[in-house]
Formats: sequence, C-alpha cells, structure tokens
Amino acid sequence: MLHRLRRWPGGMLQDVVAALFPASCRRCGRSLPRCESAPRSLRPYAPLFAGGLRRRVGGSLSIPLYVLCPECTGALRRVPRTTLPVATEAGWRCLSAFEPEPSLFTLVHALKYEGLHELAPWLAAFMAAALRRHERHTPNGSVLVPVPLHPQREAERGFNQSALLAAAVGQRLGLPVDTMLLRRRRATRSQARLDPEARRTNVRDAFERRRPLPVGVRILLVDDVVTSGATVHAALLALGCEPAHAAVLCLCHAGGAADSRSTASAAVCARSSAESSLSGSGLEGRCTSAS
Ligand SMILES: [Zn+2]
Repeated sequence: MLHRLRRWPGGMLQDVVAALFPASCRRCGRSLPRCESAPRSLRPYAPLFAGGLRRRVGGSLSIPLYVLCPECTGALRRVPRTTLPVATEAGWRCLSAFEPEPSLFTLVHALKYEGLHELAPWLAAFMAAALRRHERHTPNGSVLVPVPLHPQREAERGFNQSALLAAAVGQRLGLPVDTMLLRRRRATRSQARLDPEARRTNVRDAFERRRPLPVGVRILLVDDVVTSGATVHAALLALGCEPAHAAVLCLCHAGGAADSRSTASAAVCARSSAESSLSGSGLEGRCTSAS
C-alpha cells in the first residue's frame, strides 16, 4: 500500500508521504536514506544503484524505486565471470546474472508481486551484461522468448515479468523479442513448494508452440528465476529446440532448491566472493544524480 502511495506523481505529495512514512528496506527493514541530489519525485528512494550501474554496463537507465538499503544491495552478487553456464538436465545451457541470495529474491519479489516493474530494466541490464560475457551464446540471429504466464495469471498480475526482462535485454542488446511463439495452454500450480518430480509433472505439456520455429535462429528462453529447471525444460521441449540451438537466460539459477528463498540462498549468502560481489564496485551506497 505505502509503496503505491510513494509512486503517486507530484513532488510535494511524495515529500509529504515520505516524511510521514519513511521508506524502509524490503529485506531488512532499515530506514532508507534520502538523496537530496535526486529529482524531487525520486528523493524518497535515493537512487542507490544508478551511477555504478551506468559505469559497469553502459548506457542510461531509468532508476528503479528504492527497494534495498546499502547493506542489502552490497549483498547482491553477480555470477563470477569464470563460472560456466549451468546445464539443465537435457543439456540446455542456463546463463544467469546473479547468485541466488536473499537480496536478489527480495528484488524479484518486488518486481513480481508488488508490481514494481520499474525494476525490470535495472535487473535486465545485468542479464545483458552476463550475455555479453558469454558472447558465444548470443550469435547473430538470436531471438529472446520469454516464458509465458497463463493468460489468467498475467491478467491478474497485469504483466509478465519474464516478458519485461526480455524486452529490456532485447533493447539493450538489439535482439528481437518474440512473445507470440510460445504460449502456456493450461494453468499450473506454483512450483515453489514442490519437489523436483512434482515440478516436472506440474508443467508437463503446459506449453505449446504457436507456429513453426523461424529457420536459422537461436532461441534464448528468458525466465526470472530458474530452480529445478522443470519449467524451462518443458518450455524448450514445446518449442522443439535442440540444445545446440537454444539456451536459457535468467536472473538467477537457484539450483533445484525446493524453496529458493531459503535453502539455496542461505548457502550462497554465507560465502564471500570478492570477484562476484557488488560491494566496492561502485554499486553500493551511492547517491548520485538521477536520470
Ligand atoms: Zn536492508
């Protein structure tokens, strides 16, 4: 409720709301700093990420609403440059941008369930950067295909987060996005609490290709979080792609944990990797001019 009030247009109203209801970190609850150098309408959210991100991946970005405090932002970890894409069970490569840890899942939750789709371009910039680091997986002719939601779920949510991510990645890399190639023909239960076998059963035959695959293109299937890989596996089977002609691009690969918000992330969080950490890279605690 409060975050919706803070999105209300009008600088004066935003300042009043921010004074009455100071923004707090979605992950740890700490109060978020105000940023006097940001535009008035964005001050309550202190554009923590902006300057460092522009330096790292280039281009200009709109600034997401403020979600994490500096400490929790510093806990975000990119997948190390040296990490090879993870293979799914059928041999499709899965390329991810972030390690699975609580701060990342907080952002994903805010994107999917709080409607903060302003986060999509920011997160997608890291997916695009991950693709650039593995250019052999993004030859000319690649097409981004987001994992579709069932129409009823998409109508309830108002958007498909994977489509938002795919659109932003496509915009950054100049790759086409095809949202019509694949459809979800039946509603499925949430995968979050299911064991691997139940996940496979849940999504079996859930997808359908709507027309023949374009000749000579490589499919980059875009999803937000990949856990067991059952969903992307079912989607790629429906597309009829050979592993050599398709790969998965996601925000993070949570490695098959039944509940990615707890088990998978806990182990990763306990680890400290100087190479993959965002801390000290210019992405943490920065309060720069907004654009
Ligand atoms: Zn925090």
